Amino acid sequence: MNMKICHYSRLAITLFVASTCTALFANNTRTPPPTNSVSRISADPITLDIHFHFHDRLKAVYDNEWGVEKQASSITGISLNNITDKHNVSGNEAFNLLMATGELPDIVGGTGLREKFNQYGPAGHFLPLNNLIKKHAPYLQHYFDNNPNILNAISAADGNLYHIPYVPDGKFGRAYFIRTDWLNNLGLPIPNNVEELYKTLVSFKTRDPNGNGKADEIPFFARNVEELIRLVTLWDARTTGSDTWHDFYISNGIVRHGYVEENYRAGMSHLAKWYSEGLIDKDVYTRTGNVRTELLASNRGGMTHDWFASTSSYNERLQDQIPKFAFTPFAPPQSVSGKRIEEHRRTAIKPDGWAISKTNEHVIETIKYFDFWFSPQGRRLANFGVEGQEYTLVDGEPVFTDDVLNGDIPVNARLWAVGAQVPRGFQQDYAYEKQWTNDIALAGIELYEQGDFLVEPFHGVTLNKEEKETIDFYWKDILAFMLERQADWLLGLRNVDDDWDNYLARIDKLGIKKVMKVMQSAYTRQYSAPLTAEIEE
Ligand code: CA
Repeated sequence: MNMKICHYSRLAITLFVASTCTALFANNTRTPPPTNSVSRISADPITLDIHFHFHDRLKAVYDNEWGVEKQASSITGISLNNITDKHNVSGNEAFNLLMATGELPDIVGGTGLREKFNQYGPAGHFLPLNNLIKKHAPYLQHYFDNNPNILNAISAADGNLYHIPYVPDGKFGRAYFIRTDWLNNLGLPIPNNVEELYKTLVSFKTRDPNGNGKADEIPFFARNVEELIRLVTLWDARTTGSDTWHDFYISNGIVRHGYVEENYRAGMSHLAKWYSEGLIDKDVYTRTGNVRTELLASNRGGMTHDWFASTSSYNERLQDQIPKFAFTPFAPPQSVSGKRIEEHRRTAIKPDGWAISKTNEHVIETIKYFDFWFSPQGRRLANFGVEGQEYTLVDGEPVFTDDVLNGDIPVNARLWAVGAQVPRGFQQDYAYEKQWTNDIALAGIELYEQGDFLVEPFHGVTLNKEEKETIDFYWKDILAFMLERQADWLLGLRNVDDDWDNYLARIDKLGIKKVMKVMQSAYTRQYSAPLTAEIEE
């Protein structure tokens, strides 16, 4: 829970203010992209020490031998030298061990460090980058000019920027999937709204769409119970505003939480009914292992809400095993009020990237080096690896080699091994992923793009010390209580309609007003003021 609370402390952007601003900046090219390519940064080669720990699961560190590092070094004249010990710890723990030594290398970077940068930056350990970017980093300046919402979201509580972030690309993450071959077997259309969806799930349950003579179908299943709860959006409720489950969301500049709202009561009431009728996997809270593979390969699962690319891949994986198997992304059914929304989207920024230590003796060269990775040349290197090794240019566009696309190891692992797609401060290019996403997923993404189903994201807020203490003190217990009741209601152990008033009273007593007040003031400080200033300029 602490991890999630940390995550809250960087959030999002408001639909209204932020999207307005983004559009303003995008249409009005006050800062055209730099035209001259980055030349060599330093005539004499410079070597900078770096502490860089990434991918908590893999516990990977920077590698001087990466093809991408060597290429960057030959272009810029700057080499990075890894000083990260390969401890068996998380990125955050590795960072803490580094800070405990009292000696920082020139650059510190990796996974999950934004909060650390925003804590240790203002305390004097890392340099504020705003003026350095203005003077020496035209590509970064151009990026932030066009993405003021991102700059706001990742700046520290003192208003300064202390790190260059890893910026993911691609908006679409999860989608609704349904067995369209089952629909065909039953002569049903793709469900268009929540009422039709209900009838479809009842048909899946009662009309033997898999044709084995047994009522063994599980109409709706989910790998994560949160993706089941997300169905409350069909009753116009919300479960989150970010890619973190149970997060706050923003509506017209106001920070809100879905789990105290009337539509959520209505949604949970209906989901409990669906559960009691066997339309939802009865073991949704307790299943372990590879739920999606198990329920699809056994020809029992009918519908889910899950990632485009990986879920679409079951069409290829199961085509020999289940004749005519078709698990297809479809548009979000219309809610009770006629809205179609897809609540999940990829995060616009990761809490990853790199920062310049106070002790760095080549500050200007370092910010220029950071800038290189936002230039077209650096961005291609960071995304695709080295030309001739990982990709070739076809009509001017990088296309991965057969060795990368069809080798023995997954594409992303193959790229990490040469230092591409690692979370240095860089801007991802979705074209890298598109090359290994199947046509069913791409068609689904197109459908969601055309339908404009995504809702505006909350990028988070940076809390100051007092605010963080308040959130840490109250929010954990409130959320735990919310989730406890959520499970009880769904499973039919308690009744949401009977409980509702007492539920709200209890949350009030646990301090929700204090939490919302802090979130709102942090949000307003982080987004409204600077954005307004920029607009009036
Ligand atoms: Ca059956």
